[in-house]
Amino acid sequence: MAIISDDEGLEKRVKRNPIVKSETIEYDNLFENSIRPKDFDSYIGQTALKETLKIILEAAKRRGKPLDHMLFYGPPGLGKTTIAGVIATQMGVEIKITSAPSLERPRDIIGILMSLKGGEILFIDEIHRLNKVAEEILYPAMEDFTLDMTTGKSQTAKTLRVPLPKFTLIGATTKAGELSSPLRDRFGMIHRLEFYSVDELAQVVMRTAGILDISITEEGAKAIAKRSRGTPRIANRLVKRVSDFAIVKYDGKIDETVANESLDILKIDEFGLDNTDRALLSLIIDKYDGGPVGIETIAAALSEDVRTIEDVCEPYLLQAGLLQRTPRGRKVSPEGFRHLGRIIPSMQTSLF
Ligand code: ADP
Repeated sequence: MAIISDDEGLEKRVKRNPIVKSETIEYDNLFENSIRPKDFDSYIGQTALKETLKIILEAAKRRGKPLDHMLFYGPPGLGKTTIAGVIATQMGVEIKITSAPSLERPRDIIGILMSLKGGEILFIDEIHRLNKVAEEILYPAMEDFTLDMTTGKSQTAKTLRVPLPKFTLIGATTKAGELSSPLRDRFGMIHRLEFYSVDELAQVVMRTAGILDISITEEGAKAIAKRSRGTPRIANRLVKRVSDFAIVKYDGKIDETVANESLDILKIDEFGLDNTDRALLSLIIDKYDGGPVGIETIAAALSEDVRTIEDVCEPYLLQAGLLQRTPRGRKVSPEGFRHLGRIIPSMQTSLF
């Protein structure tokens, strides 16, 4: 698999870890890549998506044509990058991975498009953050596999049509709603990734533990899965953290008790909420009588970035029914009050 990067050191390391986002490589990335499923069998859950993809992939192979462009959306860590890699493996093609913020200048996107070979996959993460110019370069590239380039200035300017090989664009986003409609319309398939069930996450935990040589019981895996917020990336991080506790404080093996005690120490509660999630709910309850309150106000009060709150904290709090989104802002639900052990304000005691 080919990787786009300006960094020589990164190129070398990437050879050992085939899928890497282009602009950064951190320890977390190395860890993630070492446990990333490469085929449909090891990609757990998302059954409907896998079934659909198997048919689409088989049809493309039989026709001898490249795949349609695809868009995957959903909260971070649910497996959008991973499924793109699985598709590449199954099709036996290269995947080039980049993300919209690193495609700021026209030459960034042109360079990548010109480097593609027939059938290859271009994966653009955070595709909702593409700027207008990059989007406009992408339209003819996606639709007609051509690049429209202007040479010369004003009156002498000429438009050059450069043919591109037939490639497949896979876009990923946490915010499908922020994609412009012309761009969205150019994807042949749009799919939302779902949060994972506890059983599915327990399988993710068992698989990761197997790869990392961590000793764990099925009950231990389930205890970690329950607190993983429906997200494989979190399940993988937690199994590693719990394993550290198991080695230092216990006999190295993770069972239900070890998992629960370690996660309590890490302040991850039985819903998988961490300190930031609880601070968010407490803030709305204590300072704004349970809401509604605007997202900017919440972010400022918590000294957090609006995007982090919207992309990382909120989706799970909404899905778990602890938080509600209203036209006037965010509100803590009765379940949210209950979860924090607070008294639910009743309609009768309201002054209005
Ligand atoms: P996203 O691109 O949606 O942010 P990733 O594809 O990077 O998420 O997935 C994050 C991590 O979670 C990966 O390292 C991978 O190991 C794990 N993961 C994601 N989806 C699955 C899955 N369906 N089965 C097993 N592990 C998964």
